[in-house]
Formats: sequence, structure tokens, C-alpha cells
Amino acid sequence: GDLGPEQHGLIISHFGRQVDVEASEGERQGEIIRCHMRTNLGQLVTGDKVIWRANPDGGVVVAKLERKAELVRPNPYGEMKPVAANIDYIVVTVAVEPLAHANLIDRYLVAAELSGIEPVILLNKTDLLNDDNRERIETMLTRYQSIGYQVLHASSSTQNGLVELKDHLKDRISVFVGQSGVGKSSLINVLLPGVDLKVGELSVQTRKGRHTTTTARLFHFPDGGDLIDSPGIREFGLWHIDPEDLIDGFRELREHTGHCRFRDCKHEQEPGCALKDAIADGKISEARWQSFKHILASLDEQDSW
Ligand code: GDP
Ligand code: ZN
Repeated sequence: GDLGPEQHGLIISHFGRQVDVEASEGERQGEIIRCHMRTNLGQLVTGDKVIWRANPDGGVVVAKLERKAELVRPNPYGEMKPVAANIDYIVVTVAVEPLAHANLIDRYLVAAELSGIEPVILLNKTDLLNDDNRERIETMLTRYQSIGYQVLHASSSTQNGLVELKDHLKDRISVFVGQSGVGKSSLINVLLPGVDLKVGELSVQTRKGRHTTTTARLFHFPDGGDLIDSPGIREFGLWHIDPEDLIDGFRELREHTGHCRFRDCKHEQEPGCALKDAIADGKISEARWQSFKHILASLDEQDSW
């Protein structure tokens, strides 16, 4: 057919054999074009950068550019599949209420670390901080700062901290993850005025039955930066982790592995264990070590089901 020149674009959403591409350059910059794709491209996901060409029906994607990082999650068959690409930050959202627990934060951090995407910890509902809960929460969050994680504070109710949050998310692609009830939708609604997050819902038929999947969608923050969101992405990290990989998800533990006397050290009772030495020297917090062991035990239970 009649094809226009090659241009850069960004995948905003994907619908089976079709994708919505936002033109990144030229006269149509910012316009969203429903495109087909060449069959040799493999799967395209939200956040992918592509080359597309206009045609009388809309357009066709002719090339996929290299991905920086992929967010993967299991499909209905249990296979890990990319759902979004080129994400810079996983914003692990926790709250004063329901009270943030270190063990759950660690689980999200592990999933982020294993994806190779930088996690940022965001404490929401700071309007609910009081003399009974403040010290406990601050002690916990300080521990994460001391191992190099960025910790931000916000209240979607009072809008406290939102200037710093917006500033941090500028020029980056982020996803918000976290337990239900911590205020992710409230925060996103404040950050994206006038956006209906229910867009893009899809229902697909698989051999195992009917599943409602919801395709991820990319939104632009008015002050810069992008959000990729879907109900599935918000649940990121709560599925199975391979026990062998767990320690690599604890950044300050990972640093010490490989220095144990025994190559196959299980970091239990072995002599010359570099991890045990680091804990004794105060280089690793006892709380994080306990959390590691707790998550490891929970993974073993999953395996024996
Ligand atoms: P999500 O499940 O993480 O998307 O959480 P929601 O955005 O649905 O919020 C859960 C509840 O927390 C709702 O009742 C919100 O009104 C409330 N909430 C959200 N943000 C704040 C906040 O900053 N302060 C307070 N006090 N409540 C909030
Ligand atoms: Zn060891």
C-alpha cells in the first residue's frame, strides 16, 4: 500500500495484533495511531520504542528498538511474559495504614532487583503519622535509605510531598506497585488529573478458560515523566520467586555472596561464611537477614504444595 516515511514512535497500549503508537516526531508528534505490525517483530509491549510508517488505515510498525528493561509477569499458562518495556522506576508504594511491613517491602524489592529495575520506596498517607506509629515507620525506612534506596513521602489527601514526587518521576517511566489499600489509585488520580484508568480492558479466551486481562497503558504526567499502569502491573512481585535467586534480590546480601569459604555455602552453620561475618560486623542488618530467611522459608512451603 501507500506507506509514509519511517518515523519513531512509542507503544502506548497493545491489543493482540494491533498497537496504539504515539508519534514521537514530525508533524503528527503526540498523535496516537492504531497500527498493525510486521509479523517478524515478536511481541510488542507498552513502553516499546518502535519505527512505524503511516498508511491509509493508520499505520504499520516496521521495527522494534532495543529494550532497556522488561517488566515480566506470568500469563494464564504460568509462563513469564513481558508486559511493559523501558521502565526506569518501580515505585513500591506503602502506607501508614495499612501499616507497611518490612517483609512485604522486601518482597517487592526482591522482585524489582531481579527485574533489573530501580525500586523507589514511597510512603503514602503521611497525614496519618502520629506519635504512636512515627518512630517505628521512620526506623524501618531509614534502614532502606542506608542500603541505598530512595525513600519518598506523600499524602494524596493533603498533597504533601507531591512536588518532590513529581520532580523525582520527571523524565522517567515509572510503575506504581503495592498492596491494595495503600493509595495507589488515589496518588495516580492526583498525578494524572482527568485520566480514566479503566481504559484498555480486554477479555481473552484461552484453553484454560476465560480470563480478563487488562492491557498496560502509558500515560504522560503533565509536568514530565510517564506512568505505565494496569491492574496486573500493580500486583507485580507477589508471585513465585525462585529460592535460588532470592539472595540476589537483597542488594546488600548479594554483595557478600561469593566470599564464603565454601562455594556451596548455605549461609547457615558453615564456618567462614562471609554473610554471617558481615552480620556480626554490623554491615548487614539483622532485620533484613531475618526477612531473607522468612521469605526463603515461605518459598519452600510454596514448593511443597
Ligand atoms: P489502592 O488500592 O492502593 O489503589 O488504594 P486507594 O487509592 O483505593 O486508597 C485506599 C483508601 O485509602 C481509600 O479510602 C483512600 O481514600 C485512602 N487514601 C488514599 N490516599 C490517602 C492519604 O494520603 N491519606 C489518607 N488518610 N487516606 C488515603
Ligand atoms: Zn555463607
